[in-house]
Amino acid sequence: MEIIKYINNLLIPKTCILCGKLITETIHLYPVCSACEDKQIENKGKICSICSYPLISEKDKCMRCRDGIFNYLYNRSVFNYTGDIKELIYQYKFNNCKNLSIYFSKSLSKLLFNNYPECIIIPVPGRSIIKKRKGWEHIDQITKILKHKYRLPVQKLLTRKGEKAQKTLSREKRAENLRKSIGFSKKIKKIPESVVLLDDVFTTGTTINECAGILKTAGVKNIFSLTIAID
Ligand SMILES: [Zn+2]
Ligand SMILES: [Zn+2]
Repeated sequence: MEIIKYINNLLIPKTCILCGKLITETIHLYPVCSACEDKQIENKGKICSICSYPLISEKDKCMRCRDGIFNYLYNRSVFNYTGDIKELIYQYKFNNCKNLSIYFSKSLSKLLFNNYPECIIIPVPGRSIIKKRKGWEHIDQITKILKHKYRLPVQKLLTRKGEKAQKTLSREKRAENLRKSIGFSKKIKKIPESVVLLDDVFTTGTTINECAGILKTAGVKNIFSLTIAID
Protein backbone atom coordinates (compact mmCIF):
# COMPACT_ATOMS: atom_id res chain seq x y z
CA MET A 1 0.00 0.00 0.00
CA GLU A 2 2.81 2.42 0.88
CA ILE A 3 4.39 1.97 -2.56
CA ILE A 4 1.07 2.64 -4.33
CA LYS A 5 0.65 5.81 -2.27
CA TYR A 6 4.19 6.84 -3.15
CA ILE A 7 3.67 6.35 -6.91
CA ASN A 8 0.37 8.20 -6.73
CA ASN A 9 2.14 11.07 -5.03
CA LEU A 10 4.55 11.29 -7.92
CA LEU A 11 1.91 11.15 -10.61
CA ILE A 12 -1.10 13.09 -9.36
CA PRO A 13 -0.70 16.78 -10.28
CA LYS A 14 -0.67 19.03 -7.26
CA THR A 15 -1.83 22.55 -6.68
CA CYS A 16 0.46 24.85 -4.71
CA ILE A 17 -1.09 25.56 -1.29
CA LEU A 18 0.30 29.09 -1.34
CA CYS A 19 -0.33 30.49 -4.84
CA GLY A 20 -2.93 28.03 -6.15
CA LYS A 21 -1.02 27.30 -9.37
CA LEU A 22 -0.70 23.79 -10.72
CA ILE A 23 2.71 22.27 -10.04
CA THR A 24 4.06 21.17 -13.41
CA GLU A 25 7.16 19.20 -12.37
CA THR A 26 6.39 15.47 -12.65
CA ILE A 27 8.27 14.51 -9.52
CA HIS A 28 7.31 16.97 -6.86
CA LEU A 29 6.45 15.40 -3.57
CA TYR A 30 4.92 18.28 -1.65
CA PRO A 31 2.28 20.91 -2.47
CA VAL A 32 4.49 24.00 -2.57
CA CYS A 33 5.71 25.16 -6.00
CA SER A 34 9.36 26.05 -6.61
CA ALA A 35 8.59 29.77 -7.01
CA CYS A 36 6.83 29.91 -3.62
CA GLU A 37 9.57 27.80 -2.04
CA ASP A 38 12.25 30.21 -3.27
CA LYS A 39 10.33 33.15 -1.82
CA GLN A 40 10.57 31.92 1.77
CA ILE A 41 13.15 33.88 3.73
CA GLU A 42 15.17 32.05 6.35
CA ASN A 43 15.52 33.44 9.85
CA LYS A 44 19.00 34.92 9.56
CA GLY A 45 20.48 38.30 10.35
CA LYS A 46 20.27 39.88 13.79
CA ILE A 47 18.61 37.37 16.11
CA CYS A 48 18.37 36.75 19.87
CA SER A 49 21.38 34.70 21.01
CA ILE A 50 19.09 32.38 23.01
CA CYS A 51 15.79 31.89 21.18
CA SER A 52 16.69 33.28 17.69
CA TYR A 53 13.82 35.79 17.65
CA PRO A 54 14.60 38.57 15.12
CA LEU A 55 15.98 41.67 16.87
CA ILE A 56 15.73 45.34 15.96
CA SER A 57 17.71 46.73 18.90
CA GLU A 58 21.44 46.36 19.38
CA LYS A 59 20.89 44.12 22.42
CA ASP A 60 22.05 40.53 22.25
CA LYS A 61 18.90 39.00 23.79
CA CYS A 62 15.20 39.59 23.22
CA MET A 63 12.93 40.77 26.06
CA ARG A 64 11.65 37.31 26.94
CA CYS A 65 15.15 35.80 27.20
CA ARG A 66 16.80 38.50 29.31
CA ASP A 67 15.96 37.02 32.73
CA GLY A 68 15.36 33.39 31.84
CA ILE A 69 17.14 30.28 33.05
CA PHE A 70 17.71 27.87 30.18
CA ASN A 71 18.44 24.16 30.22
CA TYR A 72 19.52 24.33 26.57
CA LEU A 73 22.36 26.32 24.98
CA TYR A 74 20.25 28.08 22.37
CA ASN A 75 17.42 27.64 19.89
CA ARG A 76 17.63 28.21 16.15
CA SER A 77 14.61 28.28 13.83
CA VAL A 78 14.63 27.95 10.06
CA PHE A 79 11.84 30.51 9.50
CA ASN A 80 9.81 33.16 11.25
CA TYR A 81 6.29 32.13 12.19
CA THR A 82 4.54 34.56 9.86
CA GLY A 83 2.83 34.69 6.44
CA ASP A 84 3.34 31.67 4.22
CA ILE A 85 5.20 29.63 6.80
CA LYS A 86 2.42 30.10 9.37
CA GLU A 87 -0.06 28.95 6.72
CA LEU A 88 2.03 25.90 5.79
CA ILE A 89 2.42 24.86 9.43
CA TYR A 90 -1.33 25.25 9.91
CA GLN A 91 -2.05 23.11 6.83
CA TYR A 92 0.44 20.51 7.99
CA LYS A 93 -0.76 20.24 11.56
CA PHE A 94 -4.46 20.89 11.32
CA ASN A 95 -5.48 20.17 7.72
CA ASN A 96 -3.86 16.76 7.41
CA CYS A 97 -1.44 17.92 4.70
CA LYS A 98 1.04 15.15 5.52
CA ASN A 99 3.25 15.67 2.44
CA LEU A 100 4.42 18.99 3.82
CA SER A 101 6.61 16.89 6.13
CA ILE A 102 8.88 16.43 3.09
CA TYR A 103 9.20 20.19 2.61
CA PHE A 104 9.89 20.84 6.31
CA SER A 105 12.40 17.97 6.55
CA LYS A 106 14.28 19.38 3.58
CA SER A 107 14.49 22.83 5.22
CA LEU A 108 15.55 21.39 8.58
CA SER A 109 18.10 18.98 7.10
CA LYS A 110 20.26 21.83 5.72
CA LEU A 111 20.70 23.33 9.19
CA LEU A 112 21.18 19.93 10.79
CA PHE A 113 23.99 19.00 8.38
CA ASN A 114 25.71 22.39 8.63
CA ASN A 115 25.30 23.34 12.28
CA TYR A 116 24.81 20.14 14.29
CA PRO A 117 27.04 17.48 12.70
CA GLU A 118 27.91 15.84 16.04
CA CYS A 119 24.40 15.91 17.49
CA ILE A 120 21.76 13.24 17.87
CA ILE A 121 18.29 14.50 16.96
CA ILE A 122 15.75 14.16 19.75
CA PRO A 123 12.16 14.78 18.68
CA VAL A 124 9.97 16.60 21.18
CA PRO A 125 7.33 13.93 21.75
CA GLY A 126 3.86 14.87 20.58
CA ARG A 127 0.63 14.12 22.38
CA SER A 128 -0.29 10.50 21.82
CA ILE A 129 -3.96 11.40 21.34
CA ILE A 130 -3.03 13.20 18.07
CA LYS A 131 -1.27 10.13 16.70
CA LYS A 132 -4.24 8.00 17.69
CA ARG A 133 -6.71 10.36 16.01
CA LYS A 134 -4.81 11.03 12.76
CA GLY A 135 -2.63 7.95 12.46
CA TRP A 136 0.49 10.13 12.39
CA GLU A 137 2.03 12.93 14.40
CA HIS A 138 3.74 15.96 12.84
CA ILE A 139 7.18 15.91 14.48
CA ASP A 140 7.33 12.13 14.43
CA GLN A 141 6.70 12.20 10.67
CA ILE A 142 9.50 14.73 10.03
CA THR A 143 11.88 12.74 12.22
CA LYS A 144 11.18 9.59 10.19
CA ILE A 145 12.18 11.40 6.98
CA LEU A 146 15.31 12.87 8.55
CA LYS A 147 16.32 9.41 9.65
CA HIS A 148 15.48 7.39 6.54
CA LYS A 149 15.94 9.86 3.68
CA TYR A 150 18.72 12.07 5.05
CA ARG A 151 20.36 9.35 7.18
CA LEU A 152 20.58 11.64 10.18
CA PRO A 153 20.95 10.14 13.67
CA VAL A 154 17.71 10.12 15.67
CA GLN A 155 16.96 8.79 19.13
CA LYS A 156 13.58 8.91 20.79
CA LEU A 157 14.89 9.68 24.27
CA LEU A 158 11.74 11.35 25.48
CA THR A 159 8.31 9.89 26.02
CA ARG A 160 4.98 11.58 26.65
CA LYS A 161 1.93 10.43 28.49
CA GLY A 162 -1.50 11.76 27.61
CA GLU A 163 -2.24 15.20 28.98
CA LYS A 164 -4.47 18.19 28.37
CA ALA A 165 -3.90 20.53 25.41
CA GLN A 166 -1.35 23.21 26.35
CA LYS A 167 -2.67 26.20 24.44
CA THR A 168 -5.18 27.56 26.94
CA LEU A 169 -2.94 27.16 29.98
CA SER A 170 -0.78 29.78 31.70
CA ARG A 171 3.01 29.54 31.38
CA GLU A 172 3.36 28.07 34.91
CA LYS A 173 0.56 25.56 34.38
CA ARG A 174 2.06 24.54 31.03
CA ALA A 175 5.42 23.84 32.64
CA GLU A 176 3.83 21.84 35.47
CA ASN A 177 1.65 19.91 33.06
CA LEU A 178 4.62 19.09 30.85
CA ARG A 179 6.85 18.09 33.76
CA LYS A 180 4.29 15.49 34.74
CA SER A 181 3.77 14.15 31.23
CA ILE A 182 7.25 14.03 29.64
CA GLY A 183 9.67 11.37 30.75
CA PHE A 184 12.97 9.80 29.82
CA SER A 185 12.72 6.59 27.84
CA LYS A 186 13.61 3.52 29.89
CA LYS A 187 14.89 1.71 26.79
CA ILE A 188 17.97 3.95 26.37
CA LYS A 189 21.25 2.45 27.54
CA LYS A 190 23.83 4.96 26.28
CA ILE A 191 23.31 8.68 26.93
CA PRO A 192 24.52 10.86 24.01
CA GLU A 193 26.86 13.76 24.72
CA SER A 194 25.34 16.32 22.32
CA VAL A 195 21.75 16.51 21.15
CA VAL A 196 19.46 18.80 19.22
CA LEU A 197 15.84 18.89 20.32
CA LEU A 198 13.46 19.15 17.37
CA ASP A 199 10.05 20.82 17.43
CA ASP A 200 7.72 22.72 15.09
CA VAL A 201 7.25 26.19 16.56
CA PHE A 202 9.21 27.91 19.32
CA THR A 203 6.68 30.09 21.13
CA THR A 204 7.39 30.55 24.83
CA GLY A 205 10.17 27.99 24.90
CA THR A 206 8.51 26.18 27.82
CA THR A 207 8.29 22.82 26.04
CA ILE A 208 11.90 22.94 24.85
CA ASN A 209 13.15 24.03 28.28
CA GLU A 210 11.28 21.27 30.10
CA CYS A 211 12.52 18.63 27.64
CA ALA A 212 16.07 19.98 27.91
CA GLY A 213 15.82 19.84 31.71
CA ILE A 214 14.97 16.13 31.58
CA LEU A 215 17.88 15.46 29.19
CA LYS A 216 20.26 17.47 31.39
CA THR A 217 19.25 15.49 34.49
CA ALA A 218 19.80 12.28 32.52
CA GLY A 219 23.39 13.38 31.81
CA VAL A 220 23.33 14.94 28.31
CA LYS A 221 26.07 17.61 28.19
CA ASN A 222 25.26 19.82 25.19
CA ILE A 223 21.62 20.48 24.41
CA PHE A 224 20.58 22.60 21.43
CA SER A 225 17.14 23.26 20.04
CA LEU A 226 15.97 23.55 16.44
CA THR A 227 12.46 24.36 15.27
CA ILE A 228 10.81 25.01 11.91
CA ALA A 229 9.73 28.47 13.01
CA ILE A 230 10.02 31.06 15.77
CA ASP A 231 6.94 32.93 16.97
ZN1 LIG B 1 3.18 28.49 -5.39
ZN1 LIG C 1 15.12 35.43 22.86
